[in-house]
Amino acid sequence: MKVKCPTCGSQVAWTESNAFRPFCSERCRTIDLGAWASERHRIAGEALDAPSDAGTPTSGEAGDRKG
Ligand SMILES: [Zn+2]
Repeated sequence: MKVKCPTCGSQVAWTESNAFRPFCSERCRTIDLGAWASERHRIAGEALDAPSDAGTPTSGEAGDRKG
């Protein structure tokens, strides 16, 4: 069985001896993981800086009284 390396697109043999599958080499795997990690860092940084007043439910005002 062969798969395409997600980083460079070359054909990779899917075998147990290939420790980098589905990547063709350690280099391609490192590139992909690096891109993924930097995305995570960027998102986390924005989340820390985000305002916290979004989606606050308003209480009361809805008619639920007896009468
Ligand atoms: Zn590759």
